[in-house]
Amino acid sequence: MSSEDSWKAKYLQEQEYREISEQAWESERHLLGRLLVRTSLASQGQSQTLDLLLTQLRDGLRQSSSDLGGLRKLQEAIDLQLTELDDEQAAQRGKLAERVEQLIGVAQANPMFAEEKDRLKALEMRWHQPVTQSSQWAPWFTELAELMVRALASEGNGVTERSGLLGRLFRSGRDESNDGKPGPAAATERAETRPGACAEDLEQRIQIARRISELLGQMLSQLTLDVSAHARAEILRNHLAESNDWQELRESLNEVADLLILAIKRGQQEFEAFLKRLDERLLALQDHFVDQTDILAGAECAARAFDEGLRSELRALGEEVDASNDVSELKRSVSQHLESISDAVFRYREEECQRERRLSEQLQAMKEKVIALEAHSEQIKVRLKEERNRALTDVLTQLPNREAWQQRMSFEMARWERYGHPVTIGVLDIDHFKRINDSYGHKAGDRVIQLVAKTLEGRLRATDFIARYGGEEFVLMMPETTTDTAKAVLDDLRGQVAELPFHFRGEPVTITFSAGLTDLRTGDDQDSVFDRADKVLYDAKSGGRNRVCADVVDAGA
Ligand code: GH3
Ligand code: MG
Ligand code: MG
Repeated sequence: MSSEDSWKAKYLQEQEYREISEQAWESERHLLGRLLVRTSLASQGQSQTLDLLLTQLRDGLRQSSSDLGGLRKLQEAIDLQLTELDDEQAAQRGKLAERVEQLIGVAQANPMFAEEKDRLKALEMRWHQPVTQSSQWAPWFTELAELMVRALASEGNGVTERSGLLGRLFRSGRDESNDGKPGPAAATERAETRPGACAEDLEQRIQIARRISELLGQMLSQLTLDVSAHARAEILRNHLAESNDWQELRESLNEVADLLILAIKRGQQEFEAFLKRLDERLLALQDHFVDQTDILAGAECAARAFDEGLRSELRALGEEVDASNDVSELKRSVSQHLESISDAVFRYREEECQRERRLSEQLQAMKEKVIALEAHSEQIKVRLKEERNRALTDVLTQLPNREAWQQRMSFEMARWERYGHPVTIGVLDIDHFKRINDSYGHKAGDRVIQLVAKTLEGRLRATDFIARYGGEEFVLMMPETTTDTAKAVLDDLRGQVAELPFHFRGEPVTITFSAGLTDLRTGDDQDSVFDRADKVLYDAKSGGRNRVCADVVDAGA
């Protein structure tokens, strides 16, 4: 029994764990869904198609029951979009590089840039360096622009104060008092300071400036600008294409350079902000998994290892995000860490799956064991019932035996004490039975006992109870029956038994019985009521046998 109990306890415990585990996974799924929704919001604004897909993804995730097939399709579409976006960005970067190279090419081929040849070379080499920190792009462009303007405004044009003025024009931070915008006065001043500039020179300079501005304008179109800056760039581009005023051209060139620097800085800031947001999301993810570790106490080991891995990855990621100014380095590092995290999540899931599978197998085995145990205990119950019945049944007559009688008496006496309804008790004994045995043998005697028992049982009501008390003696209990009624029933039975057609050795033999009846009375116990009925039976025997006597309460008592 103890091993059965322990199996059952284990089974219930495992089932309970399984329920907790299922709840935990459900809440995890919910949290991951929310994280994905928030992360998708952070990725918004890359392309219209992607935005639409991300909106669908969020809608799908917000639904209580997720359509896995639909989500998978959406995931594939998003992957495709991201690949296209990557390709697009790579193509844009390629175009930008092409423009820069063209620009440098134009400059190198022109004799006006002869003096700047070394610097141009240096700029070109820096451009080709494999890892270019984006924070260096702004000074790089400023340097290029300064170099260009220096060359354009070089010898022979008679501009004496040009370096100061041009330097100011191409610095990213302006220091003019009129809010950085050169007014008409400035233009006049510059026009006056170039008295020796010949028309041919000017024309050539304008042509080169236009070519440069065209290339710069193309570069600008490759970069992300906000709406107002975009409009400004458009105006400048038109201006550069049409204006024949050298001064205006220089101003426009300067503004284009500024816009370029702005766009580059803006892109870098946005990307850094995105990385910070990403970092926050990852930390939230970590917190979530720490919570899960507490819940899944059964999977402690796996969860702890997983958590430690995740923590160290995120710590490293956080430190690098804080320390680095280099966007491409950051990007590489983030993607590396994300890969490690994704590996950790994958491994964790694998282990959980295996654990679940093992658990499931154990549960199945336990279920089978419990079913077998239940079947076994059912068999035992049936056997016990059979044995109990055997123990309470008389073998010869199949009537209840003396043990059964005593049980029934206890029950019936308790009921009688409660309700007080009349109950008659009788003792029956076959007359001169010894003679049957002696004359016709023991077997004949047995047959007489069997047939009398059958006759008695057949005539009595289902609520009556008859048992073989021993030998050729029977006891009878008739609930809800007075002794008078019982006497009438037994007299009738006596007649039936007397008419049983016994023949032994060719002779008809008449069998009779005598009976003594009494009722249950206050103060009675099993022995007292039996003794009283037995005493009345003795009266019936001594009175001549083949009769039923009842114990009548003395009227005077
Ligand atoms: P009375 O009318 O006074 O009851 O006389 P009796 O002969 O029936 O009384 P007694 O008690 O003297 O005899 C009972 C006999 O019943 C004695 C015993 O051998 C016999 N007997 C008891 N149990 C069985 C049984 O299971 N089978 C048979 N064949 N005989 C039995
Ligand atoms: Mg007897
Ligand atoms: Mg007898």
